[in-house]
Amino acid sequence: MNFFDTKIEFLKGVGPQRAALLNQELSLFTFGDLLQHYPFRHEDRTSFQQIRDINERLPNVHIKGRLREWHIVGEGSKKRLVATFSDLTGTMDLVWFQGVSYFEKYLRPNGEYIVYGKPVQFGGRWSITHPELDLLTPENSEGGYWQPIYPLTEKLRRKNLDSKVLGKMIQVLLEMAWPHIRETLPDYIIQKYKLVSKRDALWQFHLPQSAAWLHQAQRRLKFEELFYNQFRLIKNKLLHKTEYPGMIFDRSAIVQDFYNHHIPFQLTGAQKRVLHEIHGDLLTGRQMNRLLQGDVGSGKTIVAFITMLFALDNQAQSCLMAPTEILAEQHFQGLRKFADLMGITIGKLTGSTRKKERMRIHEQLLSGEMQIIVGTHALIEDIVQFKNLGLCIIDEQHRFGVAQRAKLWAKNDRINPHMLVMTATPIPRTLAMTLYGDLDISAIDELPAGRKPIKTVHRYDANRSAVFGFVKEELHKGRQVYMVYPLIEESEKLDLKDLMDGYESVSRSFPEVPLSILHGKMKAKDKDFEMQRFVKNETKIMVATTVIEVGVNVPNASVMVIENAERFGLSQLHQLRGRVGRGADQSYCILMTSYKISADTRLRIETMCRTNDGFEISEVDLQLRGPGDLSGTQQSGITDLLVANLAQDGAILKEARMTAQQILEADQHLLQPEHNPIKVHLENLRKEETNWSRIS
Ligand code: ADP
Ligand code: MG
Repeated sequence: MNFFDTKIEFLKGVGPQRAALLNQELSLFTFGDLLQHYPFRHEDRTSFQQIRDINERLPNVHIKGRLREWHIVGEGSKKRLVATFSDLTGTMDLVWFQGVSYFEKYLRPNGEYIVYGKPVQFGGRWSITHPELDLLTPENSEGGYWQPIYPLTEKLRRKNLDSKVLGKMIQVLLEMAWPHIRETLPDYIIQKYKLVSKRDALWQFHLPQSAAWLHQAQRRLKFEELFYNQFRLIKNKLLHKTEYPGMIFDRSAIVQDFYNHHIPFQLTGAQKRVLHEIHGDLLTGRQMNRLLQGDVGSGKTIVAFITMLFALDNQAQSCLMAPTEILAEQHFQGLRKFADLMGITIGKLTGSTRKKERMRIHEQLLSGEMQIIVGTHALIEDIVQFKNLGLCIIDEQHRFGVAQRAKLWAKNDRINPHMLVMTATPIPRTLAMTLYGDLDISAIDELPAGRKPIKTVHRYDANRSAVFGFVKEELHKGRQVYMVYPLIEESEKLDLKDLMDGYESVSRSFPEVPLSILHGKMKAKDKDFEMQRFVKNETKIMVATTVIEVGVNVPNASVMVIENAERFGLSQLHQLRGRVGRGADQSYCILMTSYKISADTRLRIETMCRTNDGFEISEVDLQLRGPGDLSGTQQSGITDLLVANLAQDGAILKEARMTAQQILEADQHLLQPEHNPIKVHLENLRKEETNWSRIS
């Protein structure tokens, strides 16, 4: 058996009980898992400070001294243990509010200890609350180490499984593992980028000998992680390009006809460029796998439609899959406008399509009579069969998994249909490279001409009457208005009350104005009814939760007021704002908050007020939240990154990607001996993944 597959209970100092805890709490099962349970930071215990030298600027202090005496102070919840601690230079207090009786038993009067913690000053005297406390021993008396701090849970801490204990276990493991650790990168790459060896990196990441070593260890592990991430993505991409043939769509009579006689507007430069890129793919005889990024309103629908016409021109059908019924409906409406101009048969298939209609659609798809179908997951079902599916367009890719993509391909058993993935959530380059590294990428980075940029402002709750005054003026001009309230699942009840209170107050402030209300708890039928009233301009103000985030297109609505804007993420605010600015009038977005907001919130709001550019906004969002939290990326493999942080490691990612690309170009099948480490490691990664899929 592979050493790294050994169960952790067999490690000295672990045993069955602790092993069970670590299984349960951190999903650590094997030696390999434990070695990859990386610390998220390290505390500097290299040297000791003296009490005399404590000052506010020190986040933590590390002091050797003697515990003099202690006593209990206070009553009830204020009850605490206060101990006097001194070294040769001064005296300070150590304070415990919890476990008072335990410490009373365990402290040794006049014992020599090492304390570590955050010092605060009260009336000229320094103290540390709940310090880390260790008896002074010959081993720890010199300091000289960096304490790794590991991700833990409350339960583990309660069972005294803390970072110190974990660090000791890992040290024992590292010593045993040393001869088994294999180099995973080719020697010449290590030389070229001046990386430390895998062994050193593992050791020094857990138990660094110095700050410089820690940095080198991290850099090496990040490089390795990103290299393998990119290697596999690029390999897939190459595989598609070399192994999968694609239909050649070289006829374009219908496209020409549409372009010359029916298209309702001039395409923007960006739309033309993107269509060019797509058309290029369609001529190569290889399957297209392309991502189309473009902000809300940038005009992706027409690009999708023209791509569908290329398919049609070549006797192939197209489908467009969206993640929700509302979105599917919106796409259907948008595409039908164009399809009707051309006499093209287009249908819609979702979970709520009636049985009879459904049967009809199934038949028409099979006979080829239906040329374009728009829908939800319902399209993936096995019963949906096509005469000749040539193009799949997927909207909001991040909500669909790769497996679902593959199911769509399989709808044509002669040849893989071309694939175009569309997303209205612009993402930063580093994220695109890792999330969509196996796709070619196109971006529509220009809005149609004549669009006035949305004006965004920040107002405090205290100024609500002025804001409502402005809303009144806009209503007078004939505009419509959205008022948006947050709805976050954990506190849904409370939020619904917020929404209802808001609705009350809006109807009091605008007694003459017909209102609509829309929230997720409403029946689909009622939602639809309210939406239609607003679309038809029968109601003037839409009071809503984020359900309007997708699926509403009302060009006459030109004002959006977002209440409690601090509770929305940056990309969500941007998505919401995209609901206005769809017509010819100047549009406004007003972000309401209380006076008290955090620095992060302020940055989010300032960013919204400064720019309308989704790509720029996504960069700020990445910096603020880190990649794991960016909308919808959870299921897309990004959480597999253990060491690298896409918000910070763009430069390493670029090197790693370039390296992977070069190796794959020179030696796709890894036949050269110097690439053997890659071959072996890929095989290990594959095994690890199959093990995991069996467990979870
Ligand atoms: P997206 O799907 O990217 O959010 P849409 O395709 O729905 O955007 O386009 C938004 C609006 O802009 C639609 O009303 C569409 O008809 C219009 N539009 C798209 N491209 C252009 C263009 N080049 N010139 C003028 N209007 C356009
Ligand atoms: Mg759209």
